[in-house]
Formats: sequence, structure tokens, C-alpha cells
Amino acid sequence: MAALRVDDKLGLVRFKVDEQGSHIAINEDCDDEKEIRLLTMACPAGLYSYEDGKLSFNYEGCLECGTCRVLSLGKLIESWNYPRGAKGVEFHRG
Ligand code: SF4
Repeated sequence: MAALRVDDKLGLVRFKVDEQGSHIAINEDCDDEKEIRLLTMACPAGLYSYEDGKLSFNYEGCLECGTCRVLSLGKLIESWNYPRGAKGVEFHRG
């Protein structure tokens, strides 16, 4: 079997979205552009976006890698938890 590239592996990822809400809370009032740009560049799933001075975040495709937590907990990230049981990302074939 040929080795899968990262893009191929990400194509196999499945999500069980927690309809009750996000497992990550962000400070939407944060206007620290350096901090915001750091997260928009660092999130491997591209879930943070910043346009026209407005930060938006979509938790539904979160890979639960913890990068945003490490970079910005207590700043732009107000709280970070894993999704509730049986919700969130499912990785297939590594
Ligand atoms: S945990 Fe990882 S994938 Fe999820 S929002 Fe943070 S940086 Fe993005």
C-alpha cells in the first residue's frame, strides 16, 4: 500500500459536530491583530479568519490539535476543551 500524503489523510477525517456548541471559546472583542494573525496562520484546519476587522471562528472542522490553546489561551482563546464524548474529529488510517 502506498503511503498517504497529509492532504490525503485529511480527506479521510470525519467530524461529529456537537450541535450544542463550540468546545473552544474565543474573545471576539480582542483587537490584537498580531495575536489574531498568529492564529489565522497557525490553525492547520484554517478555522480562524479575519476580514474587515472582524474575527470569525468555525469550530466544526477542529482537528483538536491544541495549537490555538498553546499559542493563545488566556489571550484570544478564553477556554479550550475537547468536544463532549463521541463528538468531534475521527481520524482514519493514521
Ligand atoms: S485545536 Fe487545532 S484545529 Fe482546532 S481550532 Fe485550534 S488550532 Fe485549529
